[in-house]
Amino acid sequence: MNERDTLKINNKGHLEIGGMDTVDIAKQFGTPLYVYDEKHIRVMMRAYKDALNKYYGGHGLVLYASKAFSCKAIYKIAAQENIGIDAVSGGELYTAFSAGFNPAKICLHGNNKLLSELELALDNGVGLIVVDSFREADILDSLAAKRGVNQDVLIRINPGIEAHTHAFVQTARTDSKFGFSIFDGSAENMLTYLLDKRNLTVKGFHCHIGSQIFEKQSFELATEKMLCFIADMKKIHGFETETLNMGGGFGIWYSEGDRAHAPEDYCEYVKSIIDVIKAKTAEYGLRQPFLMIEPGRSIVGEAGIMLYTVGAIKDIVGVKKYVAVDGGMFENPRYALYQSKYSALLANRADEPCTEIVTIAGKCCESGDIIAAGVALPEAESGDILAVLSTGAYHYSMASNYNRNFIPPAILVNEGKAEYIIKPQTYDDIVRNDAVPERLK
Ligand SMILES: *Cc1c(COP(=O)(O)O)cnc(C)c1O
Repeated sequence: MNERDTLKINNKGHLEIGGMDTVDIAKQFGTPLYVYDEKHIRVMMRAYKDALNKYYGGHGLVLYASKAFSCKAIYKIAAQENIGIDAVSGGELYTAFSAGFNPAKICLHGNNKLLSELELALDNGVGLIVVDSFREADILDSLAAKRGVNQDVLIRINPGIEAHTHAFVQTARTDSKFGFSIFDGSAENMLTYLLDKRNLTVKGFHCHIGSQIFEKQSFELATEKMLCFIADMKKIHGFETETLNMGGGFGIWYSEGDRAHAPEDYCEYVKSIIDVIKAKTAEYGLRQPFLMIEPGRSIVGEAGIMLYTVGAIKDIVGVKKYVAVDGGMFENPRYALYQSKYSALLANRADEPCTEIVTIAGKCCESGDIIAAGVALPEAESGDILAVLSTGAYHYSMASNYNRNFIPPAILVNEGKAEYIIKPQTYDDIVRNDAVPERLK
């Protein structure tokens, strides 16, 4: 519970976030509700920035990974904190542009970027594009030529690291859909291919070895492989790497089981990458590259909680007790996708001891619609407010209108004040894009 100083239990026995009573928040804004603590988001952005300053002389840039949580407000905060962002779709780019985010500080990713997305990026002057296919290299070069511009690019590299995390979120194994393998020579082929493109400038390389990774060793090993590759490319092709983007993936706290793994200070992940860069550049006689890191989950994950109202309770004697809430896989698909573990508590009875183990179920027509299993709670009653912790990343951004449920609104809490950053949907929003052909009318 005290993983994060923004959460506490007040003298009414209620959960507080960012100086606000969650029971009051639930009354004012309704449930289900995504709640974000602005201070915590800023603390995390600054921590990564400080780590680059402290250990690397500020020779780098933190890019917030949009896909963890994308909306205009988060881009405003990132801009105020003077960091960059990464984006992986036209929608994320458009949201950032709408928030007035400086395109020069955007890095665009994707294994299959659409022509329209590349055009949007070039028309708006996106700083870096991470090339992930030969076809994309051709398209980008001609788009840049057409516009009379020269586009800076990185190459997505697969360093072949097996990160210890859930198999579905590993991205750098040899059979990954992402990147060019160092091992089979395709990374080198891509470099020489791009060096021949007149309208593209290769700044360096990018890798991202997966998500929710706790082992610093995985990042160290990936950095070693990248530096070894960088040294080879200099030796063989005289190519000088200016920028190295090591991606994100830093693991965070969700439940008790993570306590042993999650570092006290997430900047240790960054420090371990930097230590390897310093050692290897010295060993190979290389310039220290401009270092980009792209934390997503670790910036917004623990800054967010989800508030629900308890509805139906079903006790299947001797089997399981289901506590159903007014949310479900439409606002949090992570249990259905990865059997994710969570910590939860009754926000209005946060000081009461836990007396039973229950399964938190959603309201969708699907047995797999579970929010969390094996959760210890006091005996819940209909009307209680249930808070699930560490829901700031990959929740809202993965939400859908499944079963034509509303995607819940999100609020930003800051020093005792709460405001919408995502407004509530209405039934009109639900049918807004429905069309009825004339012959059915
Ligand atoms: C997903 C992703 C990130 C962020 O990962 P987190 O685990 O949220 O830190 C960064 N870079 C790229 C290219 C990604 O795909």
